[in-house]
Amino acid sequence: MAQIVKRAFKFRFYPTPEQADELARTFGCVRLVYNKALQERTRAYRSEGRKVSYVESSAALTEWKRTEELDFLAEVSSVPLQQALRHLQTAFANFFAQRAGYPAFKSRKKSRLSAEYTRSAFRYHDGRLTLAKMDAPLNIVWSRPLPEGADPSTVTVSKDAAGRWSVSILCEDTVRPLDPTSDMVGVDAGITALVTLSRPIPGVTDDDGKVTNPRHERADRRRLARAQRIPARKEKGSANRDRARVKVARVHARITDRRRDVLHKLTTAIVRENQVVVIEDLTVRNLVKNHSLARAISDASWRQMRTMLEYKAQWYGRELLVVDRWFPSSKLCSACGALQRFMPLNVRDWVCACGVVHDRDVNAAKNILAAGLAER
Ligand SMILES: [Zn+2]
Repeated sequence: MAQIVKRAFKFRFYPTPEQADELARTFGCVRLVYNKALQERTRAYRSEGRKVSYVESSAALTEWKRTEELDFLAEVSSVPLQQALRHLQTAFANFFAQRAGYPAFKSRKKSRLSAEYTRSAFRYHDGRLTLAKMDAPLNIVWSRPLPEGADPSTVTVSKDAAGRWSVSILCEDTVRPLDPTSDMVGVDAGITALVTLSRPIPGVTDDDGKVTNPRHERADRRRLARAQRIPARKEKGSANRDRARVKVARVHARITDRRRDVLHKLTTAIVRENQVVVIEDLTVRNLVKNHSLARAISDASWRQMRTMLEYKAQWYGRELLVVDRWFPSSKLCSACGALQRFMPLNVRDWVCACGVVHDRDVNAAKNILAAGLAER
């Protein structure tokens, strides 16, 4: 059965100087309103043991706009400011439900610059998106189409540390389950290869089932490591240090963007081609601390990939199994079940006593698939 899901579509855009200025002021106001409301809620909670509601915060915002000191709050669209209060409300709800720590102030340097617009504060028509307080639509790079007849409900504008603007558009989309298939696959997470599958998918993996890390990434990682050393050498607060920091953020953003693209294509292919997908829960493996850059990037990718597999499997009527038990996936022969005593990390291929020649990672992926099916 087809189901309607909420789906966010993210695009880059290039604001005009006036739009950039309007958005920068809006970001500033969003941060101020959030912090001021947090301060007031904290005061009421500490000194009176009282919980301030969203409605009270909203009424306070109206009062602030009337004061001489804060009348500039009335100049930007009121919707992102209201949304900031809603986010604060959610942060408090999570805190009181013990799902999260006490809400933190948004710092000028570290917090993400963003503003959220709901329906009353933007117009979307024929692929043109215009925000409140603006005359012209945003110059968006539509890297893929919105769903047919899309009726966006929320638009979030943000600017990252690398100075890039993006807009995330939330729409309803209809997803239909794919035709059932009998194929199944195990996925082994790697560092040298991004992942290895227990059976290849033509055009997505190589003939063995391996997906290599995105092209150019090796060079970008070297650039990143080099750029990261520079800010520490520059004087705190200096323009050079800020420039160096933006440079680090740019390289980092490029690596994560390319990775995300690769992961989207990969997870869609995995889910399209297989009825059952088995992955490992890597939290156990992560007990072995390794602070290398390669490790950090591969861990982040793995978490992202798991999230994508989870929702895509749900959308398309597939089954995702997570093997949560550590087992010697690389020491076990997937053909006969014999356990090898030693399997040093540098061994990429090996021959079992039963005569089967194994690629280390493909064998591990096959064992992960078998373990998932056995646990099911
Ligand atoms: Zn064997």
